[in-house]
Amino acid sequence: MSQPQEFTFQTEIKQLLHILSHSLYQNREIALRELISNASDSLNKLRHIQLSEEQYRDNVPLVITLEPDKEAKLLVIRDNGIGLTHDELVQNLGTIAHSGSKEFLRSLAAKAEGEAAPSADLSLIGQFGVGFYAAFMLADRVEVVTRSYREQTGWRWESDGSGRFTISPVEGDVPRGAQIRLHLKDEMEEFTDPHRLKFIVRKYSTFVPHPIKLDSDTLNEQKPIWVEPKNQVTDEQHTGFYQWLTHHSEEKPLWHLHLSSDSPIQFHSILYCPPSNFEMLGFGQIEHGINLCAKRILVQDDCRDLLPEYLRFLYGVVDSADLPLNVSRETLQDHKLLPKLKRVLIKKVLDYLSSLAEEQPETFKTFYQQFGPILRTGIGQDFENREKIAKLMRFHSTHTVDQTPILTGSTSDQPKIPAVSLDAYIQRAVEGQNQIYYLSGPDLDALSRHPHLEAFRKRGLEVLFLDDPIDEFALTQLHKYEDKDLISIDSADVVFPESTKPADDDSLKPKPKNFTRILELFRGALDNKISDVRESSRLTESPCCLVNPQGTMSNQLQKVLSHTMKDYEAPKRIMEVNPHAGLVERLCELSGNSDNDEFIRDCGRQLYANALILDGLIPDVEETTNRAMRFMEELARSKSSIVL
Ligand code: ADP
Repeated sequence: MSQPQEFTFQTEIKQLLHILSHSLYQNREIALRELISNASDSLNKLRHIQLSEEQYRDNVPLVITLEPDKEAKLLVIRDNGIGLTHDELVQNLGTIAHSGSKEFLRSLAAKAEGEAAPSADLSLIGQFGVGFYAAFMLADRVEVVTRSYREQTGWRWESDGSGRFTISPVEGDVPRGAQIRLHLKDEMEEFTDPHRLKFIVRKYSTFVPHPIKLDSDTLNEQKPIWVEPKNQVTDEQHTGFYQWLTHHSEEKPLWHLHLSSDSPIQFHSILYCPPSNFEMLGFGQIEHGINLCAKRILVQDDCRDLLPEYLRFLYGVVDSADLPLNVSRETLQDHKLLPKLKRVLIKKVLDYLSSLAEEQPETFKTFYQQFGPILRTGIGQDFENREKIAKLMRFHSTHTVDQTPILTGSTSDQPKIPAVSLDAYIQRAVEGQNQIYYLSGPDLDALSRHPHLEAFRKRGLEVLFLDDPIDEFALTQLHKYEDKDLISIDSADVVFPESTKPADDDSLKPKPKNFTRILELFRGALDNKISDVRESSRLTESPCCLVNPQGTMSNQLQKVLSHTMKDYEAPKRIMEVNPHAGLVERLCELSGNSDNDEFIRDCGRQLYANALILDGLIPDVEETTNRAMRFMEELARSKSSIVL
């Protein structure tokens, strides 16, 4: 017989094997889950092949068998699926194939950059799933004895996990499929105990769609709960199914949606929302899809075509009898049914969220806090449903913030959860108000003090606060909600409803003499920086503010763009001047003497610089500080040292 061929593992596998063999004890149960899941995949693949290629059909039931041998300290996980050829052994069990293990290594590396000790995150192995190599958590030697459904010869793959593996042909008959033979480590003998194995299979693998046998008992339920009537599925079953789908073994879903429909498309589905957003923990985008079944049989796990990006956090299963069983991944993509299913699912999820907001506001709050940032991106992605998504958005606003003042420092541990919906805003809107006002900026504290708000507060008009740039992108794209225009309050498009004119309306007061002269001087001084200078009706205290010309972006969006686009040029703004501010009134008086013209121009330039700073932008630093210096010098000169 020929010598076994020797191979070396890919470097990443060596790292992974090292981590796995030192991993925490409680993770070891999931090793069995991983191997059973591989066996189940292999059975799925075989079933698929049998459906499309007659020559591979037989009537042998597809099963996974556990064969413990206490004496030999051996556990065999056997399946009669597709098996592996020689080349598949080299390729699949010598390089990193499993997306979970890649993610896991990537996340460890990413975390290690930011933190001193990545070891704590080893506990997350279970959630990523590390595939075949998990075998080395239990065994110090692993053999894979296998025969591919396409071949007569069987092969033996063998490794002690130290960096090398061998492959040799097996003489005699090898049954189709694969046996993973785990030569258990000394402290892993419990994995030969039938009770223990039963417990682990029930905990992690009960929804595997093929029988898992030990002796002649079937250990798993394999009940497709999604085809059961809704009211017959218990919470425990949902929790179990959720944990199986997500590998989040200690969690319960935040909510679930169980759907059945006969027309226009026949399908059953259960969708689960996790209780927290894993992406927020700094793992980047978590990639997973939905399990797609045809008449209870898995056609594709991880199907990304059933839900849009902005609902990517949902887990679940969709089962349609209208889907042919032997559809392949490639033809599935072109299948007309998928977009139809997707449309229905989106609608159902958005409707459900809307009812959740009314019926279980606390659950909705948690949901929005965790997944709101992902959901909101849908407004830009899904034209058809953007009104529905907008309905689910929540904001802070002058209404909520002015009632519960924002305290700087952490006097309250309560996270500030936005609570104002666009519908609630519209209900509170004043008579004749055709616009929904918003202001965006980096944080609530700064937003609630912004000078632009003066006039709105005085008139009792609610302003939404957008402290996440996504919100503003979303609202800009939405443009209108119900019949009201969404408008940033730093825009020149703002219109105040007639009914809100304050009793002491300054605009009724006569304007100071020479006010137009002041506007002219300012215009001359700032000619190349702004598009116009004009009288303001929105200010009560401040002398001036900058607004964006009609139809242009808000300050905050401009800021975001100037950070992301190198040669972004912001549109010139309009400077609005308040004729009744003390300083402006005095300048009007001074303008009677043309000797003061240059001083008034300088004041205009300084007011412009101040307004930029208030909007979080930086004026020309040298020019601004030099001018301030000159003002101080002049003021100092005009003071007297004589004590009267
Ligand atoms: P994954 O299953 O995510 O691809 P694994 O590391 O678990 O990653 O397995 C690598 C590959 O080895 C699988 O993709 C599959 O091709 C093959 N494999 C593993 N277990 C079996 C099995 N029981 N039968 C057939 N092929 C298998």
